Formats: sequence, structure tokens, C-alpha cells
Amino acid sequence: MTEQTGQGPEPAHERVSAAILPAFDDHHPPAQELIDDCVHCGFCLPTCPTYVLWGEEMDSPRGRIYLMEIGRQGEPLNAEMVRHFDQCLGCMACVTACPSGVQYGKLIEATRQQVERRYPRSRRDRAFRAFVFRLFPYPRRLRVLRGPLRLYQRSRLGALARKAGLLDRLPRRMTAMERLVPTLGRLEPVPEVTPAAGPRRRRVGMLTGCVQRVFFPEVNTATARVLAADGCEVVAPATQGCCGALSLHAGREAEAQAFARAAIEAFEAAGVDQVVVNAAGCGSAMKEYGHLLRDDPGFAERAAVFSDRVRDLSELLVELGPVAERHPLPVKVAWHDACHLGHAQGIRAQPRQALGAIPGLEVREIAEAEICCGSAGIYNLVEPEPAAELGDRKAANILATGADLLVTSNPGCLMQLRNALERRGERLAMAHVAEVLDAAVRGADPRTVLDRR
Ligand code: SF4
Ligand code: SF4
Repeated sequence: MTEQTGQGPEPAHERVSAAILPAFDDHHPPAQELIDDCVHCGFCLPTCPTYVLWGEEMDSPRGRIYLMEIGRQGEPLNAEMVRHFDQCLGCMACVTACPSGVQYGKLIEATRQQVERRYPRSRRDRAFRAFVFRLFPYPRRLRVLRGPLRLYQRSRLGALARKAGLLDRLPRRMTAMERLVPTLGRLEPVPEVTPAAGPRRRRVGMLTGCVQRVFFPEVNTATARVLAADGCEVVAPATQGCCGALSLHAGREAEAQAFARAAIEAFEAAGVDQVVVNAAGCGSAMKEYGHLLRDDPGFAERAAVFSDRVRDLSELLVELGPVAERHPLPVKVAWHDACHLGHAQGIRAQPRQALGAIPGLEVREIAEAEICCGSAGIYNLVEPEPAAELGDRKAANILATGADLLVTSNPGCLMQLRNALERRGERLAMAHVAEVLDAAVRGADPRTVLDRR
């Protein structure tokens, strides 16, 4: 095992070098039968972003599965092993590529839960993670930050500080966070109930999310309008909070379970047929609630039923079939598959189909579409260097399409890609798929989507 020095969240001399024995305790260790599914063929390697970056076996899916195996066989959980697990983006490109059906998602989720529960991270790492998880899953706390952030952006303080190199003196994770914040506009709350336009075909719940709700409120209002135009009564329960995706993907099991239980209760009380999600990472997590709450007698069955009802926005729109007319929108769109939509949920055809139904709109494919853009939940905050390299690579591939507009389905990808394009001194209009569909349904001037972000 070789370590990428300088890639870590803190300098090597500050890292904790504990060795935990046994590596995994009895509470859901990475399952031996899932590890055994891997036949070591290596088909997953070329699609794994960390293997693509470093060519290091232990930073490939096969290598990480091997580390899980030796952990089960008696090797201690040590700093080097934890680094290789931490460097995994959880993008699930390996799941798509694997011909043997290895359930890497379940393996890395179980491993991360063991690491988070049992491995002593450095004080600096713990403090940063505590800050992230006390802020991002709480829309009210994020909203409090909005005012000062808007002021900061409007006063051009940030641009001046950047120019003077002041931001480079901050810890690199804080610099990464500052650069990711999108330009904030007005807050547009979604009504608790949006009636269907015309006869009601479904009553759907809508997850408003945390980052989506506070940083991209216009995406939620566009989502509600498109669903209503296609015959859905849209309910956005005021009682809903975070879906727990960030916590789940970071191995914070108890926290993720608490968020999941609260989300199930909020949408059950709303009496909806289905729950629509417009953020790929959230949708993927909510489809896993059945697994996450499998040990909870009061929730296991409810969680499984709930997960079956979760739909990505494009998935539901294609399932329903359009009712509202789509007006022409003559734009060339580069469609970016968010990993948690394409790889984790297997949803690739539906957004292309939904966009392709707009007259005049041309969908262009991005080279290396299977490789993550580096956003990956909190990855671009805790691992800013590899995240930036992946962002740069994706930005180059996007620009090569010659598209006028970049469209995706995840707020994290929008922030990551805007930042990557800015680093190259490029600007490209970006929109969420809901905003493009909304513009087509409303017959809006194409400039309304081409002027975005
Ligand atoms: S989830 Fe992504 S980063 Fe992690 S091993 Fe699989 S392909 Fe590599
Ligand atoms: S995870 Fe799948 S593709 Fe990768 S080495 Fe194992 S069996 Fe092969």
C-alpha cells in the first residue's frame, strides 16, 4: 500500500496513526459474501476516478475490497487503510462497470460506518467534519448563513480577498468551501401544496432538501411547476428536514437513521402516492432507507415501502408521460450524469428522454461521462485536491462538447462544475433539468436558461 502524501485532509505528521484490532466489530462489518463476489478481474479499474488519477491498486475498487478482506482476516484498521477508504468518492462507477454484480455500495457503506464509529481521526479532521455535519443537514442554520454570504458576494469582498491571495492563507478545506458557494439570489419558498394543473393524476411529496432549498431555491419552484403542469398535486411538507444522504454516505449511521425516520414520518403524514426527489444524492439515499433501517422493528417495513415510492424527477415524469406542451427551446445541452443518478440509481435514459422531448433542444454527450466530477457529497470539502483534479478533467470534457448550457440533476455537481470552469477562466450557463423543463413548459425565452449562473 502506498500513500499519496499531500493528498490528505491534513499534513501527514498530524495524522493519527492508530491501529484498531479487530479492524471491524460485529455490527455490520463489510459482508464476507459480498467481498467474495469480487473475482479480481479489474474491469472496474478504468472507471474508478481515484485509480484514474493515481494508478494505485489500493485506490481502486478491487484494492479497497482487498483491504476489507484483510481487515476481516485479522489485519488492524490503520491510518493507511483509512486513507484509501476515505479517498473513495462513493461514486459507484465500479458498480456500473462490474460484470460480477459486486455490491460495492453496501461494502463501502459498512466500512465507512466502522471507520466513523471506531477510528480516532485527528483533532483537526474531527473538528472540520463536526462543523460540516452541524451545518449542512440543517436548512435553518444554512438559511442564517445566507444573509451574510449574500452580503459578502455583493460587496465583492470575496473577489478582492482572492485577488490579494488572502483566501489562500485559509486552511485549504475552508478555501474549498468558500469557492463552492454559488451566487445567491432571492429565496423562493415552495408552497406546501401546489395543485395539479388540470385533472390530478398523482399526489406526490416533494423533498425540498437542505443545500437545494437554501442555495438553489429556484430549482425547487421549477420542479413543483413542472410536476403540477404534468398533472401532479405537489405536497412539500413543512415538517421535512434533511433526508440523511450526506450522513449516510459519510458513514454516520445513527445520524442518517434519525434523519431517515423523520423523513418517513413527514411524508407518511402527507398521504402521498410517491416522493419525488430532484437531487441525485438524496434520491439514492432515500431508495436505501429499507437497508439503512433493516434492524429497526418499528421502521424496517415502513422504510422498505417508503423506498419503493421514491422517484427521481425525470424518472417520474417519464413514467407519467407528458401532459403539458413543451415549447421550443433551441439550445445545445451538455447533459452531465450525476453519479448518484446514473451509477447508483441506474437512471440515464429518463433525463435524456425528458430533455429530448423539448423541440429544438439538442442533447450532447460528455466524454468520460462515467467518471465523477469530484463533487461526491462532502468529498470536495474533505478531499479538495483530488476533487479539483477531477473537476478540471470534467470541465475540459464539458467545454469540448461545444454546448451552450450544462444541465444536471444534483446541486453538488452544479457547484463543483461552476467552480472548475471558473478556475479555467471559463463561464458556461448551467441549469438543473427541472429549470430547463420548466422553461419549455412555460414557453420562456431561451435566454432565461442561458443566463443562469
Ligand atoms: S465508488 Fe467510485 S471512487 Fe470508490 S472505488 Fe468505486 S469507482 Fe472508485
Ligand atoms: S469489483 Fe467487479 S469489476 Fe472490480 S475487480 Fe471485482 S469483480 Fe472485477
